[in-house]
Amino acid sequence: MILILEPNIATDHPDYQRLMTYLDELEGIEHRVHRVHGAEQVLSEVYLIGNTAALQEDEMGSLPAVERVIRISDAYRILGRHRDDEREAAFTYNGVEFSQDNLHVFAGLCAVDNPQNVERMFQVLQQHGQTCARMGAYKPRTNPYSFQGHGAGCLPYVFELAGKYGIRVIAMEITHDRHIEEIERALESVGNPTGVMLQIGTRNTQNFELLKFAGRQTRFPVLLKRGFGITLEESLNAAEYLATEGNSQVIFCLRGMKTNMGDPHRNFVDFAHVPVVKRLTRMPVCIDPSHSVGSRAASPDRIMDMMHATAQGVISGANMILVDFHPDPKRALVDGPQALTPDEMHLFLEDVAIARDAYERRRELAARHLTAD
Ligand code: PEP
Ligand code: MN
Repeated sequence: MILILEPNIATDHPDYQRLMTYLDELEGIEHRVHRVHGAEQVLSEVYLIGNTAALQEDEMGSLPAVERVIRISDAYRILGRHRDDEREAAFTYNGVEFSQDNLHVFAGLCAVDNPQNVERMFQVLQQHGQTCARMGAYKPRTNPYSFQGHGAGCLPYVFELAGKYGIRVIAMEITHDRHIEEIERALESVGNPTGVMLQIGTRNTQNFELLKFAGRQTRFPVLLKRGFGITLEESLNAAEYLATEGNSQVIFCLRGMKTNMGDPHRNFVDFAHVPVVKRLTRMPVCIDPSHSVGSRAASPDRIMDMMHATAQGVISGANMILVDFHPDPKRALVDGPQALTPDEMHLFLEDVAIARDAYERRRELAARHLTAD
């Protein structure tokens, strides 16, 4: 059961204190408070865990400071959608709103190689009105002899340059809880010119200790990638680990599944699951066309498979696109063959805009059809 409290209620408010005293005394029921920071208000949600079947909804609804009560099903208790659950599917981080209704592009380097390429990418993004980017500093690599990323050493210049070009959020993969502290320290050392969305990659989707660590901090939102060899349900449960530890600012990223059935693509593209994740949970949904398709191959229509896949995700309502770009893909240290170039930024964004427009028109059409019924 979830108790939604009156907006902006302070923890020292007498009603809040009375409610907590009441909850402390409930036998066999544990409670956890989550505070969700929206653009205009702070929402407090109290999760009651344990023998909640005995609790009466109307009784709980009349407790001090309680605005609404939601009875939840077992699946994805915090991030899931439940009956009569009208909680928003949105959060704001560093001035950027993420929701199941809007769309952001996070284009950039798969792996940071040098300050020149970082600067070139941010410059191009700014020229195209973009305020988000991707930058990899810690790279999980299949081969132990491959380039592992510059790690903490590159963070200060990445963050400073991001600030210089108005980039507000950088998606950056972490593979160890130590990396969160390193990112925090580097941001402080250069005066917090930008923000970071912690990315947990497909190889770590079920690294429960890392999930718990990332879930215990609320400074950074988390982009969780779907595990490439596990079920959707298992990956969504992994997202719930973040939320149950306290961080529900989570975006779920589809990035294709590892199976030879997907050949010749690097992974079997799973973007048909965009609406499924939106239906099952309140998380905004990201697609990663670069790591799922994995090449610049194009069809006789001259459209790259990667852009076809992007359009398929966007026309189905995707909320975020994580995509590899590089100023000189042949010299990229990681994933050059799948990188787009700065010259292709305009093409890419135009193509995305066409697909987004089509999605919005499809949504209006479906709504018209429903009202006509
Ligand atoms: C990445 O986005 O750089 C990455 C390694 O992705 P994935 O975890 O999906 O393989
Ligand atoms: Mn990569």
